[in-house]
Amino acid sequence: MACCEVMAGRKASLNSKELHMSEAYKYYLKFWGTRGSLPVNSPAHRKYGGNSACVEIRRDRQSIIFDAGSGLHLLGEELMAELACEEINRASSKNREAMRDIDIFISHFHTDHICGLPFFAPLFDPHFTIRLHYITDDKRTQKTDKLKSILENYMSSPFNPIGLAGFKANYSFCPHKADETIKLGAFSIIGHPIPHPNGCHAYRISDGRYDIVYATDTEHIRGKLNENLIHFIKNSNLLIYDSTYDDTHFARYIGFGHSTWQEGIRLCQAANIEKLAIFHHSPQATDDALDKIAAKARKLWAGAFVAADFQLVKLADER
Ligand SMILES: [Zn+2]
Ligand SMILES: [Zn+2]
Repeated sequence: MACCEVMAGRKASLNSKELHMSEAYKYYLKFWGTRGSLPVNSPAHRKYGGNSACVEIRRDRQSIIFDAGSGLHLLGEELMAELACEEINRASSKNREAMRDIDIFISHFHTDHICGLPFFAPLFDPHFTIRLHYITDDKRTQKTDKLKSILENYMSSPFNPIGLAGFKANYSFCPHKADETIKLGAFSIIGHPIPHPNGCHAYRISDGRYDIVYATDTEHIRGKLNENLIHFIKNSNLLIYDSTYDDTHFARYIGFGHSTWQEGIRLCQAANIEKLAIFHHSPQATDDALDKIAAKARKLWAGAFVAADFQLVKLADER
């Protein structure tokens, strides 16, 4: 099994010195938003960050993004800045074209997972091609573009003054069936249903060397591991898992649609997984609280870490 290397802590972004720190690695996963339910900002949320769900896998100049929470905004700003740099450095137009071709996979449509879309600069630039992927097994909505009608509502008056007409990029909606293999260059991506109010899908992305599972927003049943999910995540390198709660107070939140970091560890142990990213932090979880979870989790299982906004997981590129 290939090994992925979790880089310590969060890195600064959007300051000129560190803007291009990602360039040192040609292949990586980056957490742009690790918070769940609501973006949050306070002096007690500095270390782990407060942007809602957004994770990017970047290989060379290919960007595959999972969820469009508030973290997507800064991803877009950094991408535009990188492109401006490429233009100054007269990088080949092929490189720039690759950076302007983006795939975004939406797990579900709760606002913490789509609120970054109206603030994603590439959507307003006609030079970009952006595909918005989602999973639906409803044949009617496969024909009528479920995501399009959801975004039309979300982006219309009185919630938003711009409307979909404001998006100038060449964007499209790509519905898929659950458990269908979606091929994107060297990557295969499969969506799989997980229990959550209004539905949600996990994604498994594989390049034949690494297997990474993004499984946010799901509730478990106490004392009973989700066998379907174990089958789906089996032998992957990294599981990014809904860890909104803690086993000790989970009973209060049954029916809210979320899970615990301890359940994440149990799944990893049952499914032979190398690393667990504790993800979708409660807005109430302060840096101190997350530090405590990090220490407890490491004691329980050495592969666990608490993901922070702007944190990188380095993936080795050996083609
Ligand atoms: Zn969520
Ligand atoms: Zn949700």
